[in-house]
Amino acid sequence: MSTILMASQQDPVDLWRDSLAKEMPELEFRAYPDVGDPGDIDYALVYWAPHGLIASLPNVRAVFSIAAGCDHVLADPQLPPHLPIVRMVDDYLAAMMAEYALYGVLHFHRDMHYYRQEQLAARWSRAWPLYTPDTAVGILGLGAIGGDCARKLGALGFQVHGWSRGPKKMDGVTCHHGPDGLLEMAGQCRYLVCVLPLTSETQGIINSELIAAMPQGGYIINIARGGHQVDEDLLAALDSGHLGGIFLDVYNQEPLPPEHPYWRHDKVWITPHVAGELVPRSCAKSVAANIRRFEAGAPVPDLFDKSRGY
Ligand code: NAP
Repeated sequence: MSTILMASQQDPVDLWRDSLAKEMPELEFRAYPDVGDPGDIDYALVYWAPHGLIASLPNVRAVFSIAAGCDHVLADPQLPPHLPIVRMVDDYLAAMMAEYALYGVLHFHRDMHYYRQEQLAARWSRAWPLYTPDTAVGILGLGAIGGDCARKLGALGFQVHGWSRGPKKMDGVTCHHGPDGLLEMAGQCRYLVCVLPLTSETQGIINSELIAAMPQGGYIINIARGGHQVDEDLLAALDSGHLGGIFLDVYNQEPLPPEHPYWRHDKVWITPHVAGELVPRSCAKSVAANIRRFEAGAPVPDLFDKSRGY
């Protein structure tokens, strides 16, 4: 019998305990700070765990991230360097992220930003929406989440483009890759949706060069990480009118400080990092499946790759 230790600053421990018990009744569940004998722990399930906790578990075999990104695990300076880290890959998380991406695109595409202003001025006036089949959306990142966004935006009738690190083929999606591919894609897209992992290559990728490559009056939706965006470049493009609006879920500093210009900018729509929630009853299935793979010595598909940074 294996034992898993959960340590998270925000996730619901009881729901995780119940959900894992349903998926894997033979797994013993413990929650920090009630570690018991550290030598008993085989797996750690963490979100911003206290630094040094994982290093204090002498027999731990793998760390499960309670997030698609692993930045919170890697932030621990005492993390044993060769320990496998498993990303959270979950269909329901991808579906929630895609819901948000579709909402953001449709918000601008159906002129809801314009109607809000008209409502506040008690004005009955209409906008003329663009013809959807002539309108292109570009997805930055075509992985577990970006792939779902691309399929669903395609089902709504948009022209869908996607950008990845290496070449890719996806039905109904015009695929681009590499640095040149990004600007080539941006030049064709009224909407850009960012669902990239944050790495040294993608840090600051939503910058003046990318924005300038987009057609006048485009829109950006960032639901990945705040580090992808250069705030001054976004604000300058909104104020010059090159961008028509932005929808953000993530920020360079979280919580977003009260004095930040995003809060009161009339072309900025913000939410407090809520695009995708890790719902235990769904995510526990993927944790249990990956523990079974570890126990069977089988390949684990969702491993964080240190050389790529995601
Ligand atoms: P994933 O499956 O690993 O997919 C990542 C995608 O990004 C892949 O298509 C990859 O290209 C591409 N990529 C990575 N580096 C690149 C580069 N330098 N140039 C071009 N493309 C690059 O990740 P995921 O599960 O979809 O998650 C994506 C991100 O969403 C997470 O890392 C996290 O930051 C964010 N997220 C945010 C929330 C929220 O609530 N706001 C919730 C969940 C996730 P290849 O296909 O060539 O490998």
